[in-house]
Amino acid sequence: MAIKYALYFHIPFCTHRCAYCDFNTYAGHEALIPQYVEALCREIELVARSAPERLSAHTIFFGGGTPSLLTPAQFEIILKTIHDSYDLTSDLEISLEANPGTVSLDALRDLHDLGFNRISLGVQSANPVELRQLERIHDYFDVIDAVAWARRAGFDNLNLDLIFGLPEQTLHGWQSTVNLILGLHPEHLSLYALTLEHGTPFGRWSQHGLLPVPDPDAAADMYEWAGEVLETAGFEQYEISNWAKPGRQCRHNLQYWRNLPYLGFGAGAHGCAGGLRISNVLRIKTFLERIQSGGLHSNSTFPLSPATVNQTQISTRVEMQETMLTGLRLTREGVSALDFAARFGVQIQVVFGREIDELVALSLLEWAGPVLRLTKHGRLLGNQVFIRFVD
Ligand code: SF4
Repeated sequence: MAIKYALYFHIPFCTHRCAYCDFNTYAGHEALIPQYVEALCREIELVARSAPERLSAHTIFFGGGTPSLLTPAQFEIILKTIHDSYDLTSDLEISLEANPGTVSLDALRDLHDLGFNRISLGVQSANPVELRQLERIHDYFDVIDAVAWARRAGFDNLNLDLIFGLPEQTLHGWQSTVNLILGLHPEHLSLYALTLEHGTPFGRWSQHGLLPVPDPDAAADMYEWAGEVLETAGFEQYEISNWAKPGRQCRHNLQYWRNLPYLGFGAGAHGCAGGLRISNVLRIKTFLERIQSGGLHSNSTFPLSPATVNQTQISTRVEMQETMLTGLRLTREGVSALDFAARFGVQIQVVFGREIDELVALSLLEWAGPVLRLTKHGRLLGNQVFIRFVD
């Protein structure tokens, strides 16, 4: 069966850098967007040209950063280049990550006309104090507008991102946010625990005792409460941090969790294909230079591009481990022993029998027929499970 790729495009521009963010994104570089769009198109063509055959893709995802800073006309240019370079399936999913403070009804209409069929809004909280603390540029009224405009523009597949475990957040405060968000009737919700990343203002403030964050038990209570409420509201949890109405899972992200091939374009983008895990140079200007002087740095070996700066060969052993790490994030689907045997030609128990038996004995993993998956308890302790599958 021909491989169906997932295509990821990184848009590393933001109007302001949020205090907790450690993504590869830059504020104040928006003047470079036109050049960046050109470079993305060139990278799309170069990678497609280096492939041994014309590639087929079934998902396209613009993430960031703030992809919604690009104009519909710029997206049109990128999408045309993708169409010219890849075979796209008829059920193509095209997702856009958008910041609620950066969308308009007109732009959303244009994007829908271009074929975008999934929008993911970075809401994070409905509480004004929390939004200010996070240094988000939007308030909750922007979220209400963005959702209403997305619906009017024709989008029927909407994700809202929320963060819990925020500074001074109480269970009651979190409940208010979730209840308000449910009133917006999204098809999909992503709930992430705040992590204090080194090098961010939040990381520095907490190091100096200036930022009180909820203890892990309080964050676990928020997570468990949300899981129950979302289930009652008709959502299915399908990944540790993701809930969807039936049939509305994010197909692009499923590709990662199923450890299937994807290509990444743009500054800092990652890819995994052809037995290699690769990543691009982080800085926008270096990305532009490397793509513009593509002849000098040109790598003709698929899936490399002139912007690739890291590449790691994936051994079968590592591919098996990664299949466990990512597949076990899928709370229902888990890792199927049948699929594992079909993919690797060896039984899962032969490779990971000891680890699996121990984790099942600890009630962190369970068998559901041929499917190995996290228990409810295991979902809270995912990292303790995943680490057992790494050498
Ligand atoms: S909008 Fe998103 S990507 Fe940009 S700085 Fe804030 S958290 Fe980071």
